[in-house]
Amino acid sequence: MRNDCLFCAIVDGDIPSNKVYEDELCLAFYDIEPQAPVHFLVVPKEHICCARKITGENSALVAHIFEVIAKVCEDLGCESYRIVNNCGDQAGQTVKHLHFHVLSGRDMTWPPG
Ligand code: 5GP
Ligand code: ZN
Repeated sequence: MRNDCLFCAIVDGDIPSNKVYEDELCLAFYDIEPQAPVHFLVVPKEHICCARKITGENSALVAHIFEVIAKVCEDLGCESYRIVNNCGDQAGQTVKHLHFHVLSGRDMTWPPG
């Protein structure tokens, strides 16, 4: 294992996941505890701990991830969906590797809890 990060282990295949999409930059896989009929996560393969570490050096990766989300949702037939990023403990980030939740298939409330 390259470090003690759960999502790095999933990216490296050391921990299995139900993959939705993969390319050289990112991996999408279904959340183990889905909060909606469709709930997958998209992570960069590079370890970035959270959204606070997005800079001019790596923001192209984030743009790429949003393109991937649009493509995967199109392929899954999801026309309406919510993209969530939890950054930091108070926001509920439990895995300290940047990831975007994509939730679809049910009515969503606003504001979120
Ligand atoms: P966070 O709370 O950090 O925003 O989101 C972490 C997400 O990772 C949670 O929704 C949680 O269910 C998911 N998760 C935690 N461990 C695993 C795992 O081993 N496999 C998968 N597929 N998802 C996981
Ligand atoms: Zn990591």
